[in-house]
Amino acid sequence: MKIVMLGAPGAGKGTQAKQIAAKYGVPHISTGDIFRANLKEGTELGLKAKVYMDQGQLVPDSLTLELIMDRFSKDDCRNGYVLDGFPRTIPQAEALTKALKDNNDRLDYAIDVDVPDENIINRMSGRRACAKCGGTFHIKYNPTKVEGICDLCGGELYIRNDDKPEIVQKRLVAYHEQTQPLIDYYRNEGILKTVDGTQDVDKVFEDIVAILEA
Ligand code: ADP
Ligand code: AMP
Repeated sequence: MKIVMLGAPGAGKGTQAKQIAAKYGVPHISTGDIFRANLKEGTELGLKAKVYMDQGQLVPDSLTLELIMDRFSKDDCRNGYVLDGFPRTIPQAEALTKALKDNNDRLDYAIDVDVPDENIINRMSGRRACAKCGGTFHIKYNPTKVEGICDLCGGELYIRNDDKPEIVQKRLVAYHEQTQPLIDYYRNEGILKTVDGTQDVDKVFEDIVAILEA
């Protein structure tokens, strides 16, 4: 199973991708998580990516593609993956299509988690992430049992640098200019599916499972 999650920043791609990965036993691959992990470790890649991430801009394709192609070569990708936050530009999508085609392979679905911009700021301002395991919560819509502590691993929660409203606005601009065209790209490939991402987390997941098991 090879799936791409599409949608605006904060639409719930990561929340759903984690559940899909757990249910179907494939890795959840988030380029944003990989950049953040690199930054935490202080690698050159992490430091380069930070400059763009802090400005709400996309990291250049060359850097992103190098990182993801290396990730695809790992053993756990043999039976597929759920991609979250990649591809984010047409050149990235084309590079992915080509890499798969070179192996006589293709994506199964591109699932667009559709959430209008007016809901996004709300989602992002309440997002809390776990520094240890990458778990994602929301102070109102998906609260942890103990405030500030991850339900999954007991790690401390933090507010992402790029979730400040002024940066979120920039990320939305980048999304509409550079990432939204992927909806038509995958529609033309015949694998686009759309779910209403304004519903409860569980209902969105139910809709995705219905697509995957149709
Ligand atoms: P993305 O990966 O698309 O950036 P996340 O999965 O991190 O988005 O979700 C953004 C925020 O919105 C998180 O705080 C998450 O808990 C919350 N969230 C995710 N899905 C829903 C939903 N269906 N309804 C309400 N809040 C949601
Ligand atoms: P995310 O965690 O998916 O919200 O990504 C956080 C930030 O990482 C984005 O705003 C970008 O700066 C960067 N990023 C993540 N994935 C990509 C990608 N595929 N292409 C370019 N930049 C990316």
